[in-house]
Amino acid sequence: MPPTTSLHVLLAEDNHVNQVVALRTLEKLGHSVVVANNGLEALSLLDEQAFDLVLMDIQMPEMDGLTATNTIREGERQGGRRIPIIAMTAHAMKGDRERCLEGGMDGYVSKPISGKALEEAIAGTVQGGTAIGTRSGNPSPGKMGSWDAGQVLAKLGGNEKLFHELLEIFREESPKNLDKLRQAISQGDSETVANIAHSLKGELGYFGISGVCECARELEEMGRRQDLEGASGVSSAMENEILAVLDAMENVNSTGKQSGAEAEAVQ
Ligand code: MN
Repeated sequence: MPPTTSLHVLLAEDNHVNQVVALRTLEKLGHSVVVANNGLEALSLLDEQAFDLVLMDIQMPEMDGLTATNTIREGERQGGRRIPIIAMTAHAMKGDRERCLEGGMDGYVSKPISGKALEEAIAGTVQGGTAIGTRSGNPSPGKMGSWDAGQVLAKLGGNEKLFHELLEIFREESPKNLDKLRQAISQGDSETVANIAHSLKGELGYFGISGVCECARELEEMGRRQDLEGASGVSSAMENEILAVLDAMENVNSTGKQSGAEAEAVQ
């Protein structure tokens, strides 16, 4: 049995070496891959086939990755499900990641691509039932997706009771906060965006999910600046990551005793 959920991935990349590296890495992870050599090819392949994920290079001839992403997101506004897009870029420049997230992308890997970084980006981006390694196999409270339960527990001094307590709070609170956040962004309510992002940031800090934490920090800054341009892109990237983490948390809880859940049901 393959240890991961197999995804159908569109790889948009013009550089042949990078194509091969990404292709082999994805195949090794159990995914099927179709290669596009530029943004235009990517768009026409997306018209023809259903993909679970797009890996998008930024600099490509004919049409670059940000333009292609923009076109994809425009099309989705007419209806249809939102496809996760992970940016691949050679620039390790500060602000690059932000530019990608604001451009409608959900995740980010820098080149040269490492298998581990790619795997983590996919797990953090593809949400819920299709998140890599969160549904199949025998879950252990070790590293799952982009979330490391063992590390969190270690940070809490090995206090399992506190750990499970924090999990419960987070699992209950974060979907509500994400709802409120989405609403505040659509209403252009900067102050509420800043406040919710701030409280999410505080909670996330305990869970050692640095990428998500950074998104929350960015959103808080945008809110304080009263400039919500690009906020919905950052917010949906954060939401996808949080959903993947919630999924991983569910597995952690299901490996433990169910007494907590029963006690909750009685209350
Ligand atoms: Mn390129």
